[in-house]
Amino acid sequence: MIALMFGPPGSGKGTQASRVAVRLGVPHVAAGDMLRDEVARDTALGREAKPIMDSGGLVPDDLVVRMIEGRLGQPDATSGVLLDGFPRTVPQAVTLDAMLGRRDTNVDDVVSLEVPDDELKARILKRATTEGRSDDTAEGLAQRLVVYRQDTAPVLDHYREAGTRIEAINGVGDIDAITERIIESLKHNGAAVGNS
Ligand code: ADP
Repeated sequence: MIALMFGPPGSGKGTQASRVAVRLGVPHVAAGDMLRDEVARDTALGREAKPIMDSGGLVPDDLVVRMIEGRLGQPDATSGVLLDGFPRTVPQAVTLDAMLGRRDTNVDDVVSLEVPDDELKARILKRATTEGRSDDTAEGLAQRLVVYRQDTAPVLDHYREAGTRIEAINGVGDIDAITERIIESLKHNGAAVGNS
């Protein structure tokens, strides 16, 4: 199964995606984690991405697409994947669809985590004190929310218009309960899901 975990910054999509991927038995491919790894390894891509990420902007589509394309070509990702943080723009979505189309597959499901803005801000500022991510500042978050609304929210419309299943999930509450909400919703729609 090819699924996307979708949601604003601070919605918990990374946390939920890693849990849901285990249950689905597919790799969790997180664009933000891969970019932070490039930064940590001080690669050419990492050096280009770091200032953009710190300011809350988006890394250019072609760089991210190349990175994800490489990952999806790995043997463990051929039968299914849970993508987190990609696609983040409509052009990225169009490229992903074409990439999958060449293998006669497509996005089966989009999980959309819904969390009110006040809660997002509270979570990110709390995370800033524990994880020390360099983009988790009040300014960085404000910019990420603007970019989310402007560039990323239209990706959901893109898949809605394509007739892809969209699971709207309430992302507020207990972490385990939210995972179960997602799993139930995917099961309901025919996904093969294992037990925790
Ligand atoms: P969050 O959803 O909390 O903002 P992520 O870890 O998904 O966190 O992303 C962190 C940053 O990495 C983004 O603000 C952006 O700069 C960059 N990034 C991640 N995924 C993409 C993508 N698909 N396209 C462009 N930039 C990306």
